[in-house]
Amino acid sequence: MKVYINGKFFDQADAKISVFDHGFLYGDGIFEGIRLYSGCVFRLEEHLERLEYSAKAILLDLPWTRKQISDATCEACRVNGLKDGYIRLVVSRGVGSLGLSPKSCASPQLIIIADKIQLYPPEFYEQGLKIITVPTRRCNPAALPPTIKSLNYLNNILAKIEAQNLGFHEAVMLNDQGYIAECTGDNIFLVHKGKLFTPPFSAGALSGITRGAVLDIAKKLKMPVEEKNLTRYDAWIADEIFITGTAAEVVSIIEMDGRPIGTGKPGPAAKKITAEFKRLVKKDGTKI
Ligand code: PMP
Repeated sequence: MKVYINGKFFDQADAKISVFDHGFLYGDGIFEGIRLYSGCVFRLEEHLERLEYSAKAILLDLPWTRKQISDATCEACRVNGLKDGYIRLVVSRGVGSLGLSPKSCASPQLIIIADKIQLYPPEFYEQGLKIITVPTRRCNPAALPPTIKSLNYLNNILAKIEAQNLGFHEAVMLNDQGYIAECTGDNIFLVHKGKLFTPPFSAGALSGITRGAVLDIAKKLKMPVEEKNLTRYDAWIADEIFITGTAAEVVSIIEMDGRPIGTGKPGPAAKKITAEFKRLVKKDGTKI
C-alpha cells in the first residue's frame, strides 16, 4: 500500500511523520473517513466541506484548495489500485515545538491512507447489534464542539472500551444533559410509529455523511423525520433503532440496555433504508 503524505506517495513501511507533529503530541488536527464504492468516492464534496468546517473551527488554515485535496484523494485510490475501499484523510497541525501553541507549527500536514475496506461481520447486518449506554459522555460543546471531527477521540475510545468490557461492540453516548448524542463512531436513529427521529447536532451528534444520506432517503420515501433531543426512554420504547456511519453503513439495533427493541429483530424501516442506501452509493460518487 502507498500512503500519501504532503504531495508524495510512500510505501506503507516508510509512511512516517515526525513525533513533533502536534497531531501526535496533542491530537491537534482533524480527519475524515470516506468510502470508495465501485471506483467512485461517496459524497466526496460533503466530506471535504466538513473537513473545511473542522479546519475553520480549530483555526487551521488549509494551504490546499478543495480541488487539490479532492485530486489527491482520488489519486491515492488509483495508486493503490482500489475500486472499493476506505479512505482516511488526516490533516495535522504539523511539526512544532513541545509547547501547546500552534504558532510553532510551520505548516499543516496532509496524509491520505486509501486501503481495502474491513467490512463488519455479516451477522451484524443479518441479526442486528446489541448496544449499551456507557458512563463516558460526549464532549460538552463548551469544551470542544462535537461537530468538529478532530483527532481527539479519547472519550469515544473510553466509551468503546466500556462497552467492550461489558461484552458489547458499540456504545450509546449521552451528552452532558443526559440526552442521546450518538454512538462512538456512528450516528443513531429511532423509528417510532412510522416516524424517524435522530438527535440534532446541538445534542452532540456529528454531522455524519451517512446520517445526511439517510435523511435524504427518508425524504424520498416520504417518511417523516424529526431531529430532537432523545432520551434513553425514547430509545427503549422505539419500534426500531439503527446506527449509521461511513464504515458501518446502516446497522439495526435489536437490544439496548438489556431491553429488546421492537420485535428484537432488524425492522422494516431499517431494511428499506439500507436497500435505498445501497442504491444511492452506486450513483452519488466522484469517479476516481
Ligand atoms: N459520529 C462519530 C463520532 C464519528 O466518528 C462518525 C464517523 N465515523 C460518525 C458519527 C458517522 O459519520 P459518517 O457517516 O460521516 O461516517
